[in-house]
Amino acid sequence: MTDIRLDNITKVYASAGSLVRAVDEVSLSIASGEFFFLLGPSGCGKTTLLRIIAGLIEPDTGRVLLGQHDVTELSVEKRKTAMVFQSYALWPHMTVRQNVEFGPKMQGRDRIRRREIAQANLVRVQMEDYGSRKPNQLSGGQQQRVALARALAAEGECLLLDEPLSNLDARLRLHMRGELRRLVKETGVTAVYVTHDQKEALSMADRVAVMNEGRIVQVGPPEEIYNRPANRFVADFLGEANFVSGKVVGLSDSGLVKVETPVGTLLADPTAAVVQAGRGSAVTCCMRPERVQVLAAGGPTPDREKSNVLAAKVDSSTYLGEMRQYVLKLGSSTHWKALMLAGHLGSLPSGQDVRLAVHSADVSLLME
Ligand code: ATP
Repeated sequence: MTDIRLDNITKVYASAGSLVRAVDEVSLSIASGEFFFLLGPSGCGKTTLLRIIAGLIEPDTGRVLLGQHDVTELSVEKRKTAMVFQSYALWPHMTVRQNVEFGPKMQGRDRIRRREIAQANLVRVQMEDYGSRKPNQLSGGQQQRVALARALAAEGECLLLDEPLSNLDARLRLHMRGELRRLVKETGVTAVYVTHDQKEALSMADRVAVMNEGRIVQVGPPEEIYNRPANRFVADFLGEANFVSGKVVGLSDSGLVKVETPVGTLLADPTAAVVQAGRGSAVTCCMRPERVQVLAAGGPTPDREKSNVLAAKVDSSTYLGEMRQYVLKLGSSTHWKALMLAGHLGSLPSGQDVRLAVHSADVSLLME
């Protein structure tokens, strides 16, 4: 298997008299066998970057390395990458089996061997009973499975996937997330997957690169980018978050950072950047709604050395099935969201005084 290295890749498009830096000085290392995601909003450059890895687009500057080989100048066919598109792109005049045999055929495998490879990959995606059908006789989900089998049968060193689930209905998309991850990990192929859907990335990836305006703003495993976003863009893009701006005023006895904010002094686990910036630096505290706990009246108070306990008023409460979302008012103008298991507290009425707890480990500090 093969690792992928991108070294200072830039791609600029000239469009309607102006220049768009679709990919802007991107460097990345993707380990052999890793399931790697490029995640970002529409237009951030993720498809352009994936197509540069595939060889479908030539970068203006920079190098693409697959394993030890610099493939920047190589054509698509010579790169040993296989691609799965959003639109499946199966050949309509060929049967399912012929579609899957196509890669091995191009590689010069004999008839018996290509049959074997096609069969093994159709079994892998549970489509072995559909070999003689044409693509237009299959559902969208089935076509996507065949597209995946075809890409795997090409036995490329890298599998490149461009929003492969986005044409499927919501239920099937959820189901296919787990299945696709299982298949990719089972084959051991190095895979790069482009999506704008943060849940897809968080639930499937080994590591995620979050992109914005042609640049990579953070790379890390799902839990790290979700719980420790590098900046406000990442925090916002990955899910809901409560923010409050403040100023670092020092360290607590137990080594936590004390931040003075309009809702009171908050304790947060230290980060290298904040410790280096020191007292007086401006930061934003970021807390995920599911980490803000509404305390039951008369219940125990959490350890105040490590937890922030704050007074608030219930502004509104929304039943979401499994969860209940509270909007809470702190002080005169700050509103935070809290997400609790629905059965936990019942429905608290608007205007009720409550206490909130947020553990210091759940307060991320973003430099301003
Ligand atoms: P989406 O999720 O909408 O597909 P993306 O993150 O994949 O978006 P790209 O398709 O890589 O983004 O496009 C990045 C930027 O480059 C966008 O501003 C887009 O308009 C621009 N762009 C892409 N292809 C071209 C082209 N052939 N000519 C001019 N501009 C282009």
